[in-house]
Formats: sequence, structure tokens, C-alpha cells
Amino acid sequence: MPVRTHILKFKSGDKIFSAGDSANCAYIIERGRVGLYPLNRQDARIAELGKGELLGEMGIINNLNRSASAFAESPVELLVVDREQITSRLENADPILRGVLEVLLSRIRNMLGGDSLTKKNRENNNNIVTEGMTKIRFEHEMFEALENDEIVNVYQPMVNLSDNTVAGFEALSRWKHSEKGMVSPFEFITLAEESDFIVPMGLKIFDSACKQLSIFQNKRSQSHPQLLPLFMSINVSATQLSSDGFLEKIMAITQKHKINPSNIKIEITESLMVDYTQVATWIDECSEFGFKLSLDDFGTGHSGFEHLLQLDFDTIKIDQIFVKTIDTNPKSLIMLELIVQMAQRMNMSIVAEGIEDKKSAQTLKIMGVDYGQGYYFYKPMNATEIIKII
Ligand code: C2E
Ligand code: CA
Ligand code: CA
Repeated sequence: MPVRTHILKFKSGDKIFSAGDSANCAYIIERGRVGLYPLNRQDARIAELGKGELLGEMGIINNLNRSASAFAESPVELLVVDREQITSRLENADPILRGVLEVLLSRIRNMLGGDSLTKKNRENNNNIVTEGMTKIRFEHEMFEALENDEIVNVYQPMVNLSDNTVAGFEALSRWKHSEKGMVSPFEFITLAEESDFIVPMGLKIFDSACKQLSIFQNKRSQSHPQLLPLFMSINVSATQLSSDGFLEKIMAITQKHKINPSNIKIEITESLMVDYTQVATWIDECSEFGFKLSLDDFGTGHSGFEHLLQLDFDTIKIDQIFVKTIDTNPKSLIMLELIVQMAQRMNMSIVAEGIEDKKSAQTLKIMGVDYGQGYYFYKPMNATEIIKII
């Protein structure tokens, strides 16, 4: 959308717009005073606006004609705000915010007298409200689900590519919804992150992952005492990392389940890793407590070279996209080789995700990738199924 920035000038007493005019822009008052009147300047003034205030926004967000007339009360300069500068933001806004705003606007429309919306506009606005309220309800269901232990973990094994033994797991959360069946973490984790609900939810996920790891490790030490202890990778978001006392809380959880923190890998994908000094402090603290740090989805927009440059990770997880295109795009192979070389020189262990066939597993093994994760080896499974394979 090309934004026109232009200034309109008015003399004292000039009409800026009239009640009933169609509204195609709003204004920011850059200089002078503007009076709002029901119809014309002789009427009682509704409001007087000054420098820095917004004028004419109602018609834009309401999609209605001007509900009042505006006159310059002194020499006035206005910065024109295009309709799209506001509406494109509204369209991209959170459905809950849009719903709440629409409820508010419809109340104002009623107060201003009559509802002059077209049938189509009314339907559209009702849909906006419904979408917002559905999301709020879904959030409530999520709070209840956590209380009722309907948010559970499944575990996907990570395989040591040198001998195909199971080396550890990634804990992946699932919502066992009474009507919708299994809800994907893509749906509810994002929602939990928006409302900071990810903090209590994340601790519960952490707790059950540690509890299971302790069971898996005991089982493994009985069946294969010669193998290294199993590890558990747990996804943690920046909101969790920055929450009050996070490290102390996860430390207490590991102690409760008698887990050595060095067997826990904290997986971070970060879109929010902007304040490197802050994130570096959290990461250093995690390491001091003995936890391992893993950079998830490496190579995607969220996890790139800058993270590696600024922060210290123990493990790097190469994103699925490189593995998926290993046979079809020769560039994948080149990039994979370089990532592996780089990780080895930086003393990081390497995991490749999304391995779906034997050939890719073989190629990655030859390349020097340490661990493989993907449907070719195992899908995410519940704890009972995991016990069977270890
Ligand atoms: P992720 O951390 O990148 O997890 C890997 C995703 O790839 C998982 O999806 C896994 O089931 C899937 N996957 C594994 N192997 C294969 C394969 O061979 N082929 C294909 N096509 N997919 C494979 P899932 O379980 O749906 O998780 C999606 C995302 O949700 C995760 O991506 C992670 O970012 C997030 N997530 C899951 N659980 C948690 C959690 O407890 N906390 C947080 N903060 N995020 C979580
Ligand atoms: Ca992950
Ligand atoms: Ca990943």
C-alpha cells in the first residue's frame, strides 16, 4: 500500500468535513484547533481537538459516513491518515481485540442513533465478534484442560546415527480435547504464548517430561547398563525463560525426579531473541545449573547464524526443510555439509530432524550428523509405547 503523506491547511472558520460525508481518511492535527459539531458551526460544540490528536477515525473503523462536522477554530494543519493505514492493521490484529473493538463500536453506533450499516457490513461485523469470542472460549478450555490433565506429552526418540540406538527423546505436547480429538501444539502453544499461560503450562510439561525420563532411564539402565543415560529435549519459549524464577523452578523439578540437569536439553527456537545480552545471561545461567542448550530449527528465519554468533549452544538441530529436500535440491546437501562442519568445529552436537527415509538417514550419518529424529525411526509416542522400545 503506497502511503501518501500529505498535509492539508485550513483557515480559521473553514469547514474540514460535514456530517454525512463519506469517510475515506482520518487526520492527525499538526497545528491549530478543530471543533466538532453535530451539523454546523452554530450548533453546540461536541469537542475541541488540538495538536497531536486524531480526527475523523470513527468513520474509518466503523465504515460509516461522518457522524459530525469539523471546523477549523484557528489556522489548522492536518496530516492525512489513509484509510488503509488503519484498516490493514485492524485486519491483521488479534481476533480477540477485533471482537472487543467491534462490540465497542456497535455500542457507539447505537448511541449515535440508529444502525445505518448495510446487511453485508452487519454480517461481517457479527462474524468478527464471533471469531473473537470463540478464541476467548478456546483459551478458557485450554486453562481447564491443563487443570484436568488433558494436556499431555508424547515423546519422539532421537537415534544415535552411528549405531541406531535410542539416545534420548523430544517431549512434544498434545491436547486431548474431548470434542476435537488431539489438538496440535501449533494451535494451542501459540495461544498459550500470547496470554503468558505458557509459563504454568510449560512447567507442567517440564515436570511430566522429567518424571517420564526418570522412568525411561531406570528401565534403560536395567536393560542396557553399558549405554549412556537417556536425555530429554524440552521446548522452551523466551516467555518461559524470562519468567520469574524459571531456572530455580526447573532445577527443583529435576531434583524432585532425581534427574541430572545435564540430561535435559532446553530447546529454543527464537523469534523473540532480540535482546542478545538478556538471552545470553539466561543461557549462561542455564549452563551454570548444568542444563544443555539446543538451538531448534536451525537455518530457518527464527534460528539463524546470528544466534550462533552471539550465544553458546551445546546442540544444533538442523531444520526439517534441509532434510526434506536432501534428494531434490542439490543446494541442501551443500548447506548441510557446511552446517555439520561448522557445528563440529564449534564443538556442538548435531541433530537432524524430519528424517523420513533410509537414504536420508544414511547420507546424514556419513556426513557426520550425531543424532536423527523423524518418522523413519519413530513417530512421537506415548510413554507406554516408549517403554516397549527401550
Ligand atoms: P518442533 O520443536 O520443531 O518439533 C518437531 C515437529 O516435527 C513435531 O511436531 C514432530 O511431531 C514433527 N516431526 C517429527 N518427525 C517428523 C517427520 O519425520 N516428518 C514430519 N513431517 N514431521 C515430523 P509437533 O509435535 O506437531 O510440534 C510442533 C511444534 O510445536 C514443535 O516444533 C514445537 O515448536 C512446538 N511444541 C510442541 N510441544 C511444545 C512444548 O511443550 N512447548 C513449546 N514451547 N513448544 C512446543
Ligand atoms: Ca523442538
Ligand atoms: Ca524443530
